[in-house]
Amino acid sequence: MKVFCIGRNYVNHAKELNNPVPNKPLVFMKPTSALVRKGKDVYYPEFTKEMHYEAEIVLRICKNGRHIEEKFAHKYFDAITIGIDFTARDVQRECKAKGHPWEIAKGFDDSAPIGQFIELSEVDLNAIQFHLTQNGKTVQDGNTKDLIFPFANLISYLSKYFRIQTGDLIFTGTPAGVGATQIGDHLEGFIEGKKLLNCNVK
Ligand code: ZN
Repeated sequence: MKVFCIGRNYVNHAKELNNPVPNKPLVFMKPTSALVRKGKDVYYPEFTKEMHYEAEIVLRICKNGRHIEEKFAHKYFDAITIGIDFTARDVQRECKAKGHPWEIAKGFDDSAPIGQFIELSEVDLNAIQFHLTQNGKTVQDGNTKDLIFPFANLISYLSKYFRIQTGDLIFTGTPAGVGATQIGDHLEGFIEGKKLLNCNVK
């Protein structure tokens, strides 16, 4: 399985990091060793002093495909959840400055906790409200109506380059409000007010 991630998919987040708004989806991947399920603890890595949370809607792929047309893309995922794309921002800044790939800043162990999946029938895909709390306080609040590249667009685009396979996941990008996390933090992710993700940083 593969874990696709999309960068800068909300205008207000691209702006907060002074990045240009892309005209095509910005794609990167995380290895499966980055995934953390069922609320297991996350360990703060020793190589960063600036680990940021990025709360994102995650799609679960349910069908294999290539060169998928946008109008058929909805048939290729069957569940969603909220996940965190943990990012070593200081390391990423260094990679970006050198023009290097991002993997060490984005794909490290435990950098992708995901919540419990819910059926698509529970949400309106074009306007999913989601939020993240840090020690009980809301730090990110997003809605998929603000996506630059909606889900169908992402699946179609990815499938031009990669075979889409059952079990693959797509982190669809983060809204504004990213920030630093510390050891001892308790992060919780919600979709439409329903708690799906629980993450303790140790
Ligand atoms: Zn992200």
